[in-house]
Amino acid sequence: RAKQVGRNGVQFYSEELAAKARQQSRIEEQLKSALSRSDFELHYQPVVDMHTAQLTGVEALLRWPNSHVGPDLFVPIAEATGQIARLGEWVICEACRQHKEWCERGLPPIPIAVNVSAVQFRHDDFAEQFASLLEDEEVGMGALQVELTETALMENLDRAIDVLRRLQEMGIKISLDDFGTGYSSLNYLSRLPINKIKVDKSFVQRIEHDSASRAITEAVIALGRTLKLEVIAEGIESESALSYLRSHGCSHAQGYHVCKPLSGEVFEEWYRAREGKACLPGAAVFVS
Ligand code: C2E
Ligand code: MG
Ligand code: MG
Ligand code: MG
Repeated sequence: RAKQVGRNGVQFYSEELAAKARQQSRIEEQLKSALSRSDFELHYQPVVDMHTAQLTGVEALLRWPNSHVGPDLFVPIAEATGQIARLGEWVICEACRQHKEWCERGLPPIPIAVNVSAVQFRHDDFAEQFASLLEDEEVGMGALQVELTETALMENLDRAIDVLRRLQEMGIKISLDDFGTGYSSLNYLSRLPINKIKVDKSFVQRIEHDSASRAITEAVIALGRTLKLEVIAEGIESESALSYLRSHGCSHAQGYHVCKPLSGEVFEEWYRAREGKACLPGAAVFVS
């Protein structure tokens, strides 16, 4: 590959860039029609208390069934084109709908955490818009929670603190997602009105293989405990990672070893099979 670059480097890269641009505009077009037909789904991944083995909530993860592309690819495109506004609103409303449906079907109220993009969060009235969608959908403020990344908050820290405080005052819980991958600093973390931090899966997945990842994970757990925050480890793929995290004081577990993200319907089956019983780690039998 390096050889191909050589004197032709410019051309090589411009072809690659052009192909990428074509793929992006194709996805943008497809997103447009998918949005008009609400051609998306949410899948739900359980979050379980490591010590009681009880379910404490689920994370909603966006799926685009007819596209073969995951949110890591299409969400950034939706952000760049502004389509994220409608998509994000759909996610919030769909999560409310699912919350109500589970309640109607006899499940307890299960908090659903939705991922909020930096672009959505940038909007002046984000907190009020979020709350008014919940009101329109007639769910309580505890029905949904918000996951945000450090990058989203760092764009304007003082404003972010203000918006987070308004969300919290309305009863909406906040998680700091992918923690450890941004410019985390003790100083700013202690100023943030948040409820939980999520240890990024890139560290969790390397716990067994890499001492640096163990050191970072332990530091994040210690930090969270000092600040009296819940600490959720995401991307737990093995029993040994789970027991390592538990023994180091991590409070909540999420990952394929517990359960993969499931459709609303399959989640309900998963839940009913475990009602009143442990949600760890035999849950792995439900992996689809
Ligand atoms: P995230 O919020 O950090 O979500 C966690 C990701 O890790 C999800 O990927 C989930 O399926 C995956 N995961 C969970 N457990 C494991 C595990 O044990 N092993 C491995 N390898 N992966 C695991 P997914 O669903 O592909 O989503 C990727 C990212 O896309 C999310 O990262 C989030 O940043 C974004 N995203 C997903 N849904 C939405 C949404 O509704 N709105 C916005 N703005 N972003 C979303
Ligand atoms: Mg998340
Ligand atoms: Mg994450
Ligand atoms: Mg992530």
